Amino acid sequence: MNSPDVRPSAPHHPPRVIPRAEHTVSRSHISPNALRVLYRLRDAGFQAFLVGGCVRDLLLGLEPKDFDVATDALPEQVKRLFRNCRLVGRRFRLAHVFFGQEIIEVATFRAASAPAQGEEPVEEERDEEDGAEDEAAGQIDQGGPLTEVHAADFEAEHLDRVTPHPDADLERQFDASGRILRDNVYGTIDDDVWRRDFTANALYYNIADFSIWDYVGGAEDIAARRLRLIGDPETRYREDPVRMLRAARFEAKLGFEIEAASAEPIERLRTLLGGVPPARLFDEMLKLFLTGHGARTLPVLRRRGLLEPLLPNVAHYLAAHPGSLVERLLEQGLANTDARVSAGRSVTPTFLFALLLYGPIAALIEAMPPSRWHEISAILEACDQAVRDAQRHIAIPKRFSLGLREMFALQPRLEYPRGRRSLRLIGHPRFRAGYDLLLLRAQFGLASAERAQWWTDVQAASAEEQGRMADALAAPSERPAGQKSRRRRRGGRRRAGSSSGSGDT
Ligand code: ATP
Ligand code: MG
Repeated sequence: MNSPDVRPSAPHHPPRVIPRAEHTVSRSHISPNALRVLYRLRDAGFQAFLVGGCVRDLLLGLEPKDFDVATDALPEQVKRLFRNCRLVGRRFRLAHVFFGQEIIEVATFRAASAPAQGEEPVEEERDEEDGAEDEAAGQIDQGGPLTEVHAADFEAEHLDRVTPHPDADLERQFDASGRILRDNVYGTIDDDVWRRDFTANALYYNIADFSIWDYVGGAEDIAARRLRLIGDPETRYREDPVRMLRAARFEAKLGFEIEAASAEPIERLRTLLGGVPPARLFDEMLKLFLTGHGARTLPVLRRRGLLEPLLPNVAHYLAAHPGSLVERLLEQGLANTDARVSAGRSVTPTFLFALLLYGPIAALIEAMPPSRWHEISAILEACDQAVRDAQRHIAIPKRFSLGLREMFALQPRLEYPRGRRSLRLIGHPRFRAGYDLLLLRAQFGLASAERAQWWTDVQAASAEEQGRMADALAAPSERPAGQKSRRRRRGGRRRAGSSSGSGDT
């Protein structure tokens, strides 16, 4: 149906309707809560479809991350149908229907190619809402997809600089590079489809008869494992440069191939990511690296030149140190993180940024006079500088950057434990992350494997044994060669000067 150079871009032609008998999307794989929402909309006389990544993933036999619903009901009409519903969104109103931890996002059809549901940063609208909804707001705070940090503040700031239009709800505004800044038009399903990014993400599963509506050849592209932007690729990337990152994400996550015309502009347009609000890039980073396919994402980003506009210091470090131990540590750390995600264990941006910034931090320490290499203050300065460099593009919330600092500051204390008081480190809030980093470093010869093992053993030991193990430590003789056993008083506390633990590449 779609030859590679026929670009689906002409709205208002009828969809290909794929009947239930001809596709594999079964209700048994759809979240019961999403089905509840779909049925209730249908029973109230509205159109209701599942749309986006969930339909794509169901066709691929994957478990969808979340279920998004599209409907012709207006947000206020959706809200009236569901008690557990809250309207969010500054630029468009979206309905969030809450079922415990699960949120079903219901979006009214609209005709825009601006950032869409799912990626659209949501904003709490407490001032407009009544008390009952404040409870729901609490749920958003705790149960946000990956982080409660949203791009909304940046977005809001950015939009406020745009001159308001008297008919603001119906206007569409672009900035100088072609990025859509504002668009508030509701429409029909055949308007809605054209704002979506890739054909694979633009399939609609109709609850009325369980058919799939395909306006853009998405089913065929999914079958061919092909990522194809809807419309003119350059225009679509200019409207929203984050689509370049989304392309890389789906390439890595789904193993799809980005077809040539959709891949080609990325190299030329990647610097447009510099104009994306840093908080939105932070959210995208988490989707890229903390959703189970981070190890595959890194090489895709590097190959497509997309690491540089995100984290130039990391891109430069990796380019300057090909095949380094640090690169291997980063790859292994990402693989470990993916394994945690698939085992349903928690993952944290703190550890992710510690992995990514390891190289730049090491390089900053090495650029200091060798006499400082083993000082904790040098490690902290390097952490702060590396984080500042990253912050120019990505808004890393403070609690994560502080955590990263603590993880690095723990390294020398873990490498050169000093008697029984070192045992107290086990209760340190960052101990787990610091220990995990030590294990990784030891795996690549960047820290003593014996010491890493000691920490593994000591955690499993009884209190009595722990004491004996700590007493048996011969701290002074184990200090790195060339380093005097300095004991300095700082702030009334004794501290071991120590190895940066991050230097050797
Ligand atoms: P994931 O599996 O990561 O959730 P997804 O495709 O569902 O992938 P979401 O971010 O949840 O991605 O977005 C839901 C849908 O909204 C997408 O499938 C796509 O149709 C549309 N969409 C999201 N972001 C954009 C964007 N930046 N531009 C255009 N359409 C978008
Ligand atoms: Mg999704």
